[in-house]
Amino acid sequence: MEERDFDIIVVGCGCAGAIAAYVAAKQSKSVLVVERGEFAGAKNMTGGRLYTHSLRAVLEAYADGEVDWDDIPFERKITHERMSLLGTSSAMTVDYTSEAFGREGQESYSVLRATFDQWLFDLAESAGCEMITGIAVESLVKDESGAVIGVKAGDDEITAQVVIIAEGQNSLLTERELGAPRPKTNQMAVGIKEVFALDSDVIGDRFLCQKDEGAAMLFVGDCTHGVVGGGFMYANKESVSLGLVSTISEMEKADTTIYQAMEDFKHHPAVAPIIRGAEMVEHSGHMVAEGGFNMIPRYVYDGALVAGDAAMLCMNLGYMVRGMDLAIASGRFAAETACEAIDNHDVSTKGLSSYQSRLENSFVVKDMKTFKEWPETMERWDSMFSDYPQMVGELFDTMFVVDGTPMKPLGKRMFPIIKRRGLLKLAGEVRRALRAL
Ligand SMILES: Cc1cc2nc3c(=O)[nH]c(=O)nc-3n(C[C@H](O)[C@H](O)[C@H](O)COP(=O)(O)OP(=O)(O)OC[C@H]3O[C@@H](n4cnc5c(N)ncnc54)[C@H](O)[C@@H]3O)c2cc1C
Repeated sequence: MEERDFDIIVVGCGCAGAIAAYVAAKQSKSVLVVERGEFAGAKNMTGGRLYTHSLRAVLEAYADGEVDWDDIPFERKITHERMSLLGTSSAMTVDYTSEAFGREGQESYSVLRATFDQWLFDLAESAGCEMITGIAVESLVKDESGAVIGVKAGDDEITAQVVIIAEGQNSLLTERELGAPRPKTNQMAVGIKEVFALDSDVIGDRFLCQKDEGAAMLFVGDCTHGVVGGGFMYANKESVSLGLVSTISEMEKADTTIYQAMEDFKHHPAVAPIIRGAEMVEHSGHMVAEGGFNMIPRYVYDGALVAGDAAMLCMNLGYMVRGMDLAIASGRFAAETACEAIDNHDVSTKGLSSYQSRLENSFVVKDMKTFKEWPETMERWDSMFSDYPQMVGELFDTMFVVDGTPMKPLGKRMFPIIKRRGLLKLAGEVRRALRAL
């Protein structure tokens, strides 16, 4: 193999890139990470809650006890799952808590990317990676056969045996340089998020959680003004993350904007009391891949592998959003594959092909495949985002409101409300959704 500046160059220091760099450095490879943000996490956004299983697996395999789990800057352990159907002024919320959420390997934590990504950056750097921040990779360097042999960042061309592209959702490198298709607007959502500072005890009280514990709340219905999408709220240590996600093609057609929906969401009776008196300290926007399994592009090339969101490894199931655990696992697999290929002196597509089997044999692609019908089902299920949350509000109003009018039995009050929407239609839609989920 020809001499190169590094064994591996990693583009992007998010969850996928930092873990790829860490795993490769732990296998004694020379690694350069190029991150366009002034610091890791500066430009990153998530809802967000991290399912920790894949991070735990990486640390168990590579950290040799050097990393103390308690030192990882998680925010709160998520012990409550809440899902709310929002009407214009109503909310029907299911709150579920379980001992299972706390078990090792099953826990999830709320995270803030500025601190969490900085920790990931430090982890990779402590393993011996060289880091460049504040410079974006503009293009890939290729040899005469078209194989990737490095990157162009600023004025520099830097070469490597393998380049791992982990630049997130808007992966211009894979599109411009490797021919990956531009995602369609019905496969992508726009996400916006605001972070509100609040006293730690107040958060515990408002989320009804024990100290250091928190809730993950997902909303559907009026939060997006009935447009396909949803809302989220996570309890952090001393802040609350609140945001919306909505499919771009649907929001384009709507008579509202995501910004207007966010303003109204903050004033919804299910949200306003939780953030009352809190100061907004951060505002961000980002795209989210929602197309699932069917939008995964090619991710193995001569001299290059694509990991995390850049390979569209992200799932939005409505009751669960996952991307970071997939990014961490795919970053690890990309690094393991690259190290093996370098040792075998074959970094061609064939030499790097075990990345595909690693992903396909893991939860990453298996889970995405299981739920591959969901994105289309969700897109076609308009009433889930508008009429049904409103219907649920009407059902509960009729159940609980007492105004002195003689009451009919519950069934007689509820049935007309459901019948108006079409009982068979409702049953069919729910059946289809359950099959896809
Ligand atoms: C609103 C929203 C809510 C979400 N909620 C959740 C959730 O609750 N749980 C969950 O697991 N996932 C969630 N996700 C998805 C999750 O955030 C992503 O799947 C995850 O961040 C992907 O990690 P990544 O490392 O692949 O990409 P990123 O985290 O996007 O990292 C990419 C990195 O590459 C850098 N970069 C980009 N281009 C270049 C370049 N040309 N040169 C150098 N550096 C570059 C960026 O600055 C960034 O640091 C959510 C996403 C959004 C937008």
